[in-house]
Amino acid sequence: FVKRSGKSGWQLYGSHIRTQFDQKYLLEKRLRLAVENQSFHLEFQPQISGADHRLVGTEALIRWKDDQLGHVPPARFLPVAEESGLMNRIGEWVLEEACRTAASWQKEGLSIRMGVNISPSQFQRADFVQTVSAVLAKTGLAPELLDLEITENDLLYHQDSCLHILQRLKEIGVKLSIDDFGTGFSSLSYLRQFPVDTLKIDKSFIKEVYENKNDQAIVTSIIQLAHNMEMRVIAEGVEEQQSLPFLMERNCDELQGFYYSRPVPPEKILLFHKELPS
Ligand code: C2E
Ligand code: MG
Ligand code: MG
Ligand code: MG
Repeated sequence: FVKRSGKSGWQLYGSHIRTQFDQKYLLEKRLRLAVENQSFHLEFQPQISGADHRLVGTEALIRWKDDQLGHVPPARFLPVAEESGLMNRIGEWVLEEACRTAASWQKEGLSIRMGVNISPSQFQRADFVQTVSAVLAKTGLAPELLDLEITENDLLYHQDSCLHILQRLKEIGVKLSIDDFGTGFSSLSYLRQFPVDTLKIDKSFIKEVYENKNDQAIVTSIIQLAHNMEMRVIAEGVEEQQSLPFLMERNCDELQGFYYSRPVPPEKILLFHKELPS
């Protein structure tokens, strides 16, 4: 009896493992198919200047709606893509689609920066800089309108190989941002050597910045640090109107978050451009 219950216990546990395994297997299988068929799309989230509340840029964010799985958030499928060697192809698709979109806006008279998230497996590749150049040439986007975002953690983890790549990217004229700034296990000394244009303050510090004294201290320091090093600074995850006075008083250069807009399809950006309240 004990043996039997033990066995069924093991079976239960085993079937739980198998379920997780099956789910991941299914996700990977569907993801491969999505890569083949290029069945992703992009949404774009506005970035607003703190000084005059103009639309100055957008961040491209990948979206995947699968026929079987429905909407799968990037936080769920990008790690699987990374593990299964699909990330580079996905990343290249994002880069080209984002640049093509920004170039089309440029033709419509809307010259704004396009932020594109880059994963470590992308920028680690020997041909990454070449790929970026080729995409700019192909789409006709001005290099200074492309803003490559690399998270602080990825940058720190791959510190040694990064410097040279970032320098070469600067040579072709694109902008570089450190994403999720403040969450990395950082010594700050790396900032001296990296040719970075912008710090994006992680949204965890912005969420309650209107009332949380510790967040206020951290955000104030990051803005000062960025400005003292002649970098631009963006507050990510601005959800509350109450946070605006705090960020504006400290001359935070740009604001991004649900308060202004959720990520939206490209045609909405052109409308947003015309309708933005001052
Ligand atoms: P991220 O680059 O830090 O992008 C910002 C994330 O915060 C987005 O989530 C955005 O929808 C969300 N967000 C924006 N404003 C607010 C706000 O006011 N409040 C809250 N709570 N959230 C806000 P999303 O689109 O789910 O993307 C999650 C992460 O997935 C991104 O974080 C980025 O690391 C990664 N990711 C998304 N698209 C791509 C891509 O094309 N390539 C790569 N390599 N990574 C991507
Ligand atoms: Mg980002
Ligand atoms: Mg971020
Ligand atoms: Mg992130």
